Amino acid sequence: MEKPAIFGGTPACPSPISYGKQYIDETDIQAVADVMRSDFLTCGPQIPALEKKFCEVTGAKYAVAVNSGTAALHIACIAAGIGPGDEVVTSPITFAASANCVSYCGGKPVFADINPETYNIDPAAVKACITPRTKAVIPVHYTGQAVAYDEIAEICQKYGLLLIQDAAHAIGTRYKGKPIGSLADMTCFSSHPVKTVTSGEGGVVTTNDETLYQKLLLARNHGITRDKSQMEHPTDDPWYYEMISLGYNYRLTDMQAALLSSQLDKLSAFVGRRKEIVKRYNEAFKNVDGVIIQKEIPESDTTRHLYILQLDLDVLTCNRRQFFDAMAAENIHCQVHYIPVYHLPYYQKQGYPIGLCPKAERLYERILSIPLYYSLTDEQVAEVIFAVKKICAYYHSTPNISFQS
Ligand SMILES: *Cc1c(COP(=O)(O)O)cnc(C)c1O
Repeated sequence: MEKPAIFGGTPACPSPISYGKQYIDETDIQAVADVMRSDFLTCGPQIPALEKKFCEVTGAKYAVAVNSGTAALHIACIAAGIGPGDEVVTSPITFAASANCVSYCGGKPVFADINPETYNIDPAAVKACITPRTKAVIPVHYTGQAVAYDEIAEICQKYGLLLIQDAAHAIGTRYKGKPIGSLADMTCFSSHPVKTVTSGEGGVVTTNDETLYQKLLLARNHGITRDKSQMEHPTDDPWYYEMISLGYNYRLTDMQAALLSSQLDKLSAFVGRRKEIVKRYNEAFKNVDGVIIQKEIPESDTTRHLYILQLDLDVLTCNRRQFFDAMAAENIHCQVHYIPVYHLPYYQKQGYPIGLCPKAERLYERILSIPLYYSLTDEQVAEVIFAVKKICAYYHSTPNISFQS
């Protein structure tokens, strides 16, 4: 076999590729340009149009568009009434925002360990974290695969907790046939460029609950209402509004909303291609000694946002960093998702001990995210597979292949 590029072989990919990338076509560009020539750059007709489309895609009753996935999580926590002294259970293997939204409200994120095969939060670990101060659970559909929703929902029901899903990875995923976004009290999506659909920056919260919906609307826009029924001192003055709670400016622009609507029109194509690539990777890697593939649960019809390669460090002689560098030399720029959130210095200073979630920590040492995006060609998929095989063979603890340079 040919040597890995890091030891002088030819790179598997002729030009650099990264783990994720947006796909923008002329229709998207036209949709944004049309808004720029219109009367409204923000608070215009694109926002309700996007929200309506989001409801159609997710099967939710209400959708609230905001300017990031983080803002979506923050207003969900505000609507949930999270405040000082409250605890919210989430996964350690996620982006910091899943916990930060709780911290913004003065609450305390509590980290429940993961299932080492699916990498999603373990319902038994969630249950073990519950105290009289627990107010909500924020499970993360990591990589796009649905969490063990029924088990978590049952725990929430039993202890009277709100269920807020972090679905930043999971647009297009279904759980037992139902789209993510139609389940749970609130579901938060992100449209950052590496996610399945993008608006540059952006996010959406979906809910089926009218009361939560009203609270989400207030939190998005300074706590301001023009609805007389919500006012303390309603008047007939046409300019009159009231600020009835403390909110933020988390509004999405109409350019972004038009872009996201246009992207949603391509969702089924995006979903189809991502599934195809995942299938090819899974088939190729199941026979590669040195890598472990993420277990798929039958309840989840998954649209994968990330493809995680777990290294079997028992059979490889390298560590994750060496593998990562070897992939980079092949022109394949991976990433690691994620450093356990409580390892981050801000959370370390709050006193979360290292060793808190051993399964998450073990996983973190072994994973890297390899390229997965709509425009990845079949040829590039084959190049990634070839690179992984080459590096695994080279670093195998009992080599049975000879390498040429
Ligand atoms: C991307 C992401 C977020 C935050 O979304 P932004 O749009 O970047 O603010 C939250 N949670 C997870 C799991 C994410 O991947």
